[in-house]
Parts: sequence; structure tokens; C-alpha cells
Amino acid sequence: MKRRVDLLICLRCGHSPLERQGPLARCSDCGRAYPLRRPGLVDFLPQSEDDERRTTRLINPKHWWRKSRELYRTRLAPPDADFHRIMNQNSGGIVLHLGCGSGWLLDELAQHPWRLRIGVDRKLGRLLKAHRLPSAGSNLLLIRSSPYRIPLLEKTVDTVLLQNPFIEFKDHHAAIYEIVRLLAPEGRLICRVETDHEERLRQTLGAAGFAYYRIGNWWVSRRIEAQSEPLTEHAL
Ligand SMILES: [Zn+2]
Repeated sequence: MKRRVDLLICLRCGHSPLERQGPLARCSDCGRAYPLRRPGLVDFLPQSEDDERRTTRLINPKHWWRKSRELYRTRLAPPDADFHRIMNQNSGGIVLHLGCGSGWLLDELAQHPWRLRIGVDRKLGRLLKAHRLPSAGSNLLLIRSSPYRIPLLEKTVDTVLLQNPFIEFKDHHAAIYEIVRLLAPEGRLICRVETDHEERLRQTLGAAGFAYYRIGNWWVSRRIEAQSEPLTEHAL
């Protein structure tokens, strides 16, 4: 990977990489163009799409108050020592924060030696804020896209960060499925949920083939897919 656009795929035809042409990232196969809102901020959602209306359709409205409470809390919370401990052990490759919002966690990630930090969110306003952070630079790629269809090559991401998937996404299964597609074979999924969602996360990770361990409020997980089917066959 020489440039950030090399990781991107065309959502219409699946071609990769996209070519940078002035203010556009263009697919050389089908010709579809995606606007570069800023250097390193690519917009994959149609311009006609109403951001706010879509959000209310895609985020469970019951969870709105919880989401705002969580945002408030994280903004006021002191730096999370556990988070940095985990990142000290896992940094180095490509990290993706799904639902990155205005990038406060991407900012924390900048303290560690990542080759590339990727933030995905569907709100342009928040991504523009993330783009203005002092830590934003050539090793940050911001993508405006659906959390269920992220325009990145499969098996390219080493670490995915996910906070409160049950609040963030209406269809958390679809988001996890997309994460599984993106993760490199030895890739990790690192999650945090509120206490009353822990059982649900346990089930979700298990069903998607992840084994995990806990560090503080964080769940560090890795897929163990290769084992399951052949083992049961041999057992018979
Ligand atoms: Zn294309």
C-alpha cells in the first residue's frame, strides 16, 4: 500500500484500487467517482441522501438517550489506561474504528505507531471534525459509508475497534459480518459495551466465531474459524 486510496474498492463494481483525480477518487473500471471531501476523507454515500433522516432509520431510537449519555461520559472520562495497554500490545498495522464519530478515539490511537488509522462513519459533519484534529495527517483515512458496506479490500485490517454496537447499529449482525470480511487472518476485534450489554456481546462474538479475553472494560477477540467444522466431522 503506497497511498491511502489503494485500499479502497468501488462500491458499484468491486474494482480496486480507485484512482485519485483531483477532488475525486474514481473507479477506472466502471467510471464511478467518489468525492474527496478533504485529503484523506472519501465520501461513499450519495449526496442526495439525507444524513439525519437515515440516522433515525438506522439507529434504534430507544437507544438515542443512551448514546448521548455515553458520548457525554466518554468526553469527560480521563484517558483509559486499559485502552492504551491493549494498543501497546496490538499496534503496528492498520486499525479501523467503525462508528468513529468526530474521532476522539482515533486521536487517542495516534499515540501508537499505526501504519494507518481508518475511521468510518455515516455523518459528514463528524468526519470533517475528525479531519480537523491535530493528530489527523497522512496516516489517517476517513470514510463516509454505511457500516454494513465499507469500501475497503477484504482481509486488510489488523485491528477493528467497536464501541456499543447494540446502540450504534440497528443491525449489529450485519456490522460484525462486514468486520469479519475486512479482518486479516490474525486480525483482532476490540470492543467495549456497557455492562448490561455484556451477555449480548458474549453471544454475538461467540456466534461469529470469535474467542476473546477481557482487559478492564475492553474485549479483545480473534476469530478461531479454521477449527469448528473439520473437528466435528472428525469426531464422528
Ligand atoms: Zn467501479
